[in-house]
Amino acid sequence: MTDSPRGTAAETTTLLLCGARLTDGRTVDVRLSGPRIEAVGTVGSLAAPGPAGRHGTGTRIDLRGYLLLPAPAEPHAHLDLALTAAADGPPAGDIADVQRRATEAALLQLGHGATAVRSHVRVGDVHGLRALEAVLQARRALRGLVDVHAVAVPRLLTGAAGADGLDVLRDALKMGASAVGGCPDLDPDPSGHAEAVIALAAEFGVPVDLHTAAGDPARLARLAAMAGGLRPGVTLGPCHGLGTLRPDAAMCAAERLAAAGISVVALPQGGCGGLETVRRGSAGLHTPVRLLRRAGVPVAAGSGALADLANPVGRGDPLEAAFLLASYGECDPLRAYGLISTQARAVLGLPEVRVEAGFPAELLAVRGDTVEGVLALAYSRIVIHHGRVVSRTSAVREYCDTSTDPALDLPRQSHRDA
Ligand SMILES: [Zn+2]
Repeated sequence: MTDSPRGTAAETTTLLLCGARLTDGRTVDVRLSGPRIEAVGTVGSLAAPGPAGRHGTGTRIDLRGYLLLPAPAEPHAHLDLALTAAADGPPAGDIADVQRRATEAALLQLGHGATAVRSHVRVGDVHGLRALEAVLQARRALRGLVDVHAVAVPRLLTGAAGADGLDVLRDALKMGASAVGGCPDLDPDPSGHAEAVIALAAEFGVPVDLHTAAGDPARLARLAAMAGGLRPGVTLGPCHGLGTLRPDAAMCAAERLAAAGISVVALPQGGCGGLETVRRGSAGLHTPVRLLRRAGVPVAAGSGALADLANPVGRGDPLEAAFLLASYGECDPLRAYGLISTQARAVLGLPEVRVEAGFPAELLAVRGDTVEGVLALAYSRIVIHHGRVVSRTSAVREYCDTSTDPALDLPRQSHRDA
């Protein structure tokens, strides 16, 4: 289903993507050079990459029938919990087991199109730093295919157990976690928990990404007051509790988040990796994305659970998150795609991608003509990371006429969606 050509030489790879459709309706050729888009022009206007030479090798890819988009990023995964739903018993949970599942889950998400994945990883408590070590090993193994970012998520940061929690969190950041997470709703002192996370993030100069339902306006106001001005930024998710507030109270809370520069990651698939605040009991609640955006909050969308106990059928497909947002009427399809791509990359602190010269060559080609079309049906996909094809999924559908009655006149042609 996926392939993974990883060059080993440090040579510059040139790719010419031919005949791709863009969301503005143009059909273009796109030349990639190394990790960047070098040129975008009308079909046939760009010189084909030459044969292998001193400056590198070139390849031509026919993208007629494909829509070319900025690649999605996954802003909220749980790679340490992924793919545990089908297990007979509890997962082994040792480093090898977590690394194997984390690698497989990240590759699944890459196959869907996400060239960067931010994963929350539990630290402290019974987990120690084992799960983080495993996810960081998976990150190293996947380098060149997909960028994995780890958020260290402690359980308790206040009271008697809090000191231990803070020590583990410090160790996690020194090991290579790239953001501080937390679950203030699960701590006996939610504001103390958030305060500890924010202070540590400020000390290390890393972003904050907290789990919260955001259903308590007073608590949210305290958090916004603490987080305001913190760089490189604070993200909250999934904030489905905002949907339980009266519209005026929800708007007031959203305006506080916007004023503090806090981003929100919605998880329209509902479940989220085993954290009690967002188990499936709350899956019917939707983050009020339209209201948040109206208030000026930067909103991204992610997948959350990938076949773990929070959502045994979670697919980790960003296009599904966009599909759901468009289906719920929270966004039009093009905006919904922006939430899983441009906005998700912004949450991860990654540079913007546009299909224009000079931008990073992080791209997803999906069989189809329009964003509406590819959100409705996205079987065949080609994923480009760092200027190279890193995954290709091709679907073939055939309609078979089993009837012996010619009067039925069923369509006999096969539909090749590849
Ligand atoms: Zn989560």
